Amino acid sequence: MFDSVLIANRGEIALRVIRACRELGVRSVAVYSDADAGAPHVRAADVAVNIGPPPSSESYLLGDRIIQAAISEGAQAIHPGYGFLSEREWFARAVRDAGLVFIGPPAEAIAAMGSKTAARTLAVAHGVPVVPGTTESIEDAAHAAGIAAEFGYPVLLKAAAGGGGKGMRVVRDASEIATSFAAASREAKNAFGDGAIYLEKYIEGPRHVEIQLIADMHGNVIHLGERECSVQRRHQKMIEEAPSVAVSPSLRAEMGATAVRAARAAGYVNAGTCEFLLDRDGKYYFLEMNTRLQVEHPVTELVSGIDLVQWQLRVASGEPLGFTQADISPNGWAIECRITSEDPANEFMPSTGRISFLHLPSGPGVRWDGGIEIGSQVSLHYDPMLAKLIVHAPTRPLAIERMHRALSELVITGVETSREFHLRVMEDAEFRAGEIEIQWLERRLASLTTDPGTADGVRLAALAGALLADSESGVRTDVSSKKGSTASAWQRAARLESLT
Ligand code: ADP
Repeated sequence: MFDSVLIANRGEIALRVIRACRELGVRSVAVYSDADAGAPHVRAADVAVNIGPPPSSESYLLGDRIIQAAISEGAQAIHPGYGFLSEREWFARAVRDAGLVFIGPPAEAIAAMGSKTAARTLAVAHGVPVVPGTTESIEDAAHAAGIAAEFGYPVLLKAAAGGGGKGMRVVRDASEIATSFAAASREAKNAFGDGAIYLEKYIEGPRHVEIQLIADMHGNVIHLGERECSVQRRHQKMIEEAPSVAVSPSLRAEMGATAVRAARAAGYVNAGTCEFLLDRDGKYYFLEMNTRLQVEHPVTELVSGIDLVQWQLRVASGEPLGFTQADISPNGWAIECRITSEDPANEFMPSTGRISFLHLPSGPGVRWDGGIEIGSQVSLHYDPMLAKLIVHAPTRPLAIERMHRALSELVITGVETSREFHLRVMEDAEFRAGEIEIQWLERRLASLTTDPGTADGVRLAALAGALLADSESGVRTDVSSKKGSTASAWQRAARLESLT
């Protein structure tokens, strides 16, 4: 095992990796921007190195500076987390060229799966079913119109370099294709520096089901079962669970074997995920492979009993996997809610400010992977995901009750968060019945984001306490400064409470 590992990330995922390091007896080296000087991950690590100003282009994305920090602090390996440099082939290569270990797949595997068109070509060559569409990028709008006519509308224009749902446009009619092509290409160029667009048939009402993989350097590739990530807004996941109500043991074995085949084709090592669409007839289509640890990895950890991050470090140091495919079957049910600093009542507008009060859920089966504390400043420099709340229970209905209970214990003041929205989803009859697919949330959004009109006792008490503490310290809380139209019932009640 390594003596020392640098974590090239921030927030909850940096803390997650630091925890794995600590449990393995590995010294952790954090990096941070000026905006994160007081951040929890900086204090949690054994050593921390400042790498520049707040914008990530001047700090967390500066691969060379990060490699320099690893060398000067004596780290032997770099864990990239997710986002930032995690899927940059050049970074994986530069880390290796500097004589360090990249805790992730080889640069060649990132390259093979990095472009969606290259990944589709590889998948097709190895008998992995893909969504019908092109494996090459499209030259112009006229070319797109010709191909769309061939496949039949609706079609989806996608960025070859895509990620995070950017550069994606659904086209339902030939009259829209020229403008959609231009828009997708422009968005892709802005987001990825590469405007290449290809086309897929748009599948109506599928589920997003993905397979977690882990591979060592000795030829072992094992799948850890599926995650269902159908609760999405604008092609971005909001709630994930494991296993999926739509996946039987035989389908799990089949999709798992398909994902293992794709990983082998790419010469894959370390943790990775094959994403699929699963249609209503049980047919599945490969979407892409994410060549890194994913945000939603904890639900797999909870049902498989495998510590994915520890195994990332272990296989990167050359250790063979300590379990076989036969050892893996899902135990119970896990659900994750992404707690973001976004305002569900206001079209999920990013919300900024200082965390003025924080009360974390706990008790049986509750896990909090967070990156904030009281006093944390939430800015627009970084991703709005503040934390992940994850629960584990014997069955799906019990996991839903547990998540509802945990969410009701959670109090965050100072910024708007997605907490209320998640509570509504846990109460929703269709969600509870497992009747979800990737367009479900967009269809139901209006009813899930309206003011609930009810107060909730635990929160109220905690909020009143926070208000009191703030008024005593002379700090003005967000609640008192909020416009009436956006303050929900409990906030108004809490304000009243604090006045009496
Ligand atoms: P990104 O890398 O930008 O996240 P993905 O290819 O992973 O893009 O797709 C993101 C989401 O978009 C999927 O989870 C799914 O909800 C939707 N999607 C992607 N391709 C299709 C398709 N062909 N038909 C319908 N929905 C799709």
